[in-house]
Amino acid sequence: MSVEFASVSPAAPPAMRDAPLRLVDSFGRIARDLRVSLTDRCNLRCSYCMPPEGLDWLPTEDTLTDAEVVRLVRIGVEELGIRQVRFTGGEPLLRRGLEGIIAQCSQLRTDRGDVPDLALTTNALGLAKRARGLKDAGLKRVNISLDSLDAEHFAAITRRDRLGDVLEGIEAAARAGLSPIKVNTLVLRGMNEADLPDLVDYCLDRGIELRVIEQMPIGPANTWDRRSILTADEILHIMSARHTLTPAPREDPHSPAGRWIVDGDPSKRVGVIASVSAPFCGACDRTRLTSDGMVRSCLFSTEETSLRGLLREGGTDRQIAQRWADTMWAKPAAHGLNVDAFARPSRTMSRIGG
Ligand code: SAM
Ligand code: SF4
Repeated sequence: MSVEFASVSPAAPPAMRDAPLRLVDSFGRIARDLRVSLTDRCNLRCSYCMPPEGLDWLPTEDTLTDAEVVRLVRIGVEELGIRQVRFTGGEPLLRRGLEGIIAQCSQLRTDRGDVPDLALTTNALGLAKRARGLKDAGLKRVNISLDSLDAEHFAAITRRDRLGDVLEGIEAAARAGLSPIKVNTLVLRGMNEADLPDLVDYCLDRGIELRVIEQMPIGPANTWDRRSILTADEILHIMSARHTLTPAPREDPHSPAGRWIVDGDPSKRVGVIASVSAPFCGACDRTRLTSDGMVRSCLFSTEETSLRGLLREGGTDRQIAQRWADTMWAKPAAHGLNVDAFARPSRTMSRIGG
């Protein structure tokens, strides 16, 4: 599979192109993957993501209603060529209407005539009780965040003693047939890197793909230092403690994860998301919608565009789609983490949607 690029003139704004409208940027990348944040709230306080006291949560009236979320997803899928929708947050399981939103989105059809690929990124607190209902609603797969199997380390990182709930959630997701399950682990030097070999085995035993993430500068102030983050090379070295890892062929050109085959068995894989040491911006196919209805073309954008205003002022589907497309046209070439002029976005990860 190759990366999908549009043939566009860099000078041509989206409004001048023929229908159907697509989320093309001025570098020719086409966004097909929509990240929807359903809430900025969370029941954990991961040190790299949120301060201990939490944040000033968005007022309810600023948050998109379930019907507004579904309308924007529908516009994304039916008008703009979105094929994959991932619900995230904050913690998306805190959104009461989640099952209903998923059920309505599962009625949509993409430009290829199929149901959009509906996925969830979650910390899994409460998933044990909801996995079956989410599957029945139309959810296909889950990414679950889990940074350690050591209860003390887990509590130190998340500031909550809830490891057992996460593990129950993973088992329930597997029983419900949510597939594939991926586990996302963020490594913090001096905290959980020694826990990686156990996480590798835990995931391999359950047919889960473990993906280890480099920490990015998108959490609370003073929680990121380029010199101290664990890089992909170091992560791979630690993950190789008990297994032989060989590079896997790249199957999805848009996947942020480099993948490795474990012990020569192609069905067993681990991944590393090297957002800092090996950015994948050139193949990025994402567009993001925050829980208050802002479109962001990049996780690290310093600018965002409100769709909520237009939605609540009675804008038509086509007007909303056009504003969305105009925002994506201006997507930067790269996140710029590695350039001197890098400016942190005003929102942290939990407010954008990870
Ligand atoms: N609460 C859900 C969860 O934790 O899976 C969904 C939202 S969370 C913001 C999504 C993902 O962002 C998690 O896997 C988390 O590890 C990742 N994340 C949060 N802060 C990060 C940071 N500073 N750098 C890299 N990834 C981060
Ligand atoms: Fe919550 Fe996810 Fe952020 Fe942890 S990473 S604080 S679970 S939003």
